[in-house]
Parts: sequence; structure tokens; C-alpha cells
Amino acid sequence: MKIGFIGLGNMGAPMAANLVAAGHKVTGFDLAAPCPEGVQTARKAAQAAQGAEVVITMLPNGAILRAVAGEIIPHMARDAVLLDCSTVDVQSARDVAQIAQDAGLMAVDAPVSGGIGGAAAGTLTFMAGGTEEGFTKVAPLFDIMGQKAVHCGPSGNGQAAKICNNMILGITMIGTCEAFALADKLGLDRQKMFDVVSTSSGYSWSMNAYCPAPGVGPHSPADNDYIPGFAADLMLKDLRLSQQAAEAADADTPLGLAATALYQSFVEDEDGAGQDFSAMLPRFVSRRRS
Ligand code: NAD
Repeated sequence: MKIGFIGLGNMGAPMAANLVAAGHKVTGFDLAAPCPEGVQTARKAAQAAQGAEVVITMLPNGAILRAVAGEIIPHMARDAVLLDCSTVDVQSARDVAQIAQDAGLMAVDAPVSGGIGGAAAGTLTFMAGGTEEGFTKVAPLFDIMGQKAVHCGPSGNGQAAKICNNMILGITMIGTCEAFALADKLGLDRQKMFDVVSTSSGYSWSMNAYCPAPGVGPHSPADNDYIPGFAADLMLKDLRLSQQAAEAADADTPLGLAATALYQSFVEDEDGAGQDFSAMLPRFVSRRRS
């Protein structure tokens, strides 16, 4: 397939490299990052999009996606697919899909889970929104870049699934960290705490697969000085998207709101920026009840 790839940062570069390794012809564009080996460099986003059957975008946010989409859509071939894998707000995903459809294109929003490691290993999970036809056309690319793709419904539903999942993740990580900090103060050994909770009703992915306590449970960023992993800054971005969506949809998400406020002070006022999102544990340990 002839593929355009716009946004070759931490995630986009290894994803594009995997497409090249699978034999696809990829032309890439990024404002700052270099194209990985085997990806032909375009001078402009529009040039990467021209003549491509699928154009993939992997960009920082919805405003940038809207700007890039406005630039490339007029240059895309009819029946081509605009496949956005960035994490953006639901409304931007839906608006961009509408503009693409009005121009005779197909649009699929397919944010990912699995992080930089998953992007490099080709084991991402894609949650996709868009038509059946669009999803079917890009499904072989999901198979190369990932291990699983779920078609979640019409445009924007991929982003909806992503932010709901990450809202749960932010909330359970905070719950797990505050419980460890309480256990410490009650004199409960962390290993015993893990042994009980990981096999009891308090278990979760945050506890069982990504334990925030160093030396306890499976290997995780906690065992590597809380170097990300999944940065607290990115968790804050996703929680903010969840709250933006909740406000627009008039949904009551009090714990999502509280998690957003906690990650915001952690990242902006404490020392959380650049740390893994599980570094909430030392943050709670160092604090007293307020
Ligand atoms: P990144 O900042 O490393 O990469 C984004 C790239 O987009 C940069 O190289 C930047 O130069 C480029 N860019 C910005 N504006 C551009 C424009 N107008 N034209 C062309 N290129 C432009 O970010 P990342 O970690 O690769 O994340 C990309 C997306 O994936 C984000 O939406 C993020 O939320 C999501 N995501 C990231 C992770 C992760 O662990 N890093 C995990 C899941 C999802």
C-alpha cells in the first residue's frame, strides 16, 4: 500500500518503521522529527498525503489534527482513508471525519494503547471509530502495528473508548497509590498488601500489572525510579479530555474530575512532570492528611 504518515515522534516513528518493514511504501512528514529509515521524506504534509491510499496521523492534540487535516484533505485521493491514531478530543475526531467524508474520503479515528514499547514491538491495541468500510480497509495495517483492533462504532467512538479507559486507569492508579500509602502508615508490609489485594476484590491492572510500589509485583516503572512508562503529563492530558467530553455530554464523573485535579497539581505544582504516572505513590507517602 502507498501510505502517508504525518507525525513521526515517539509513537509515529516506530509505527511507520513497522509498516516499512512489512513492505509498504511510506512517505512521512514531521515538523521537527526525522523520518525513520526506509520512510521517504516529504517537504510538506500535503506532499506526504498526495496519492496515498491511507494517510496516518500521529499528532499531539486536536487543534493540530484539525490544522493538518485542513492542509491534507484537499490533496488526498478520492476513496483514500484518513486514519488518525493520535489521542484527541472526541469533537475534533468527529469534525475532522465529517470534513473528510464531505470531501469523498473515508475517516477512521483509532487511538492506541500500549505506549512506546507497544509501538516499537507492533503490539498496540487500536480502538477505532468510523464506517465498516473504512475499518476494513485499514485493518491489515492494524495487524502490522498492533495485536488487536476493536471497531467501537461510528467516528469519534475510538476516542471515546480511549478516554473512558484512561479515566478508569487514572482513578484506579490513584486508589492503588493512596491505599499503599495508608497501608504503610498502618504498618502493613507492602508485599503482604500486594499478595492480598492482587488476589482479592481490590485487584486491578494498576495493582496487578503495573504495581506502583518498587520491588513488589511485576517489574514496572516503580522499579526504575519512576522513569516513564506512561508519563503523568500524558495521563493528565487524557484525564482532561475525559472531563472535556463529560462536560459536553453532561455526564457526571466526580472521580474523573478528582483524578484530573490530582494529576494537575502533581504535574504542574509538585514534581510530577516527567515522572511515570505511578509516582503518585511517593507523592501520597510524603503527604499528611489534608
Ligand atoms: P510526540 O510529541 O513524540 O510526537 C508528535 C510529533 O508530531 C512530533 O514529532 C511533532 O514534531 C509532530 N508534529 C506536531 N505538529 C505537527 C504538524 N503540524 N505537522 C507535522 N508534524 C507535527 O508524541 P507521541 O508520544 O508520539 O504521541 C503522539 C500521540 O499519541 C499523542 O496524541 C499521544 O497522546 C498519543 N499516545 C502516546 C502514547 C505514549 O506513550 N507516548 C501512548 C498512547 C497514545
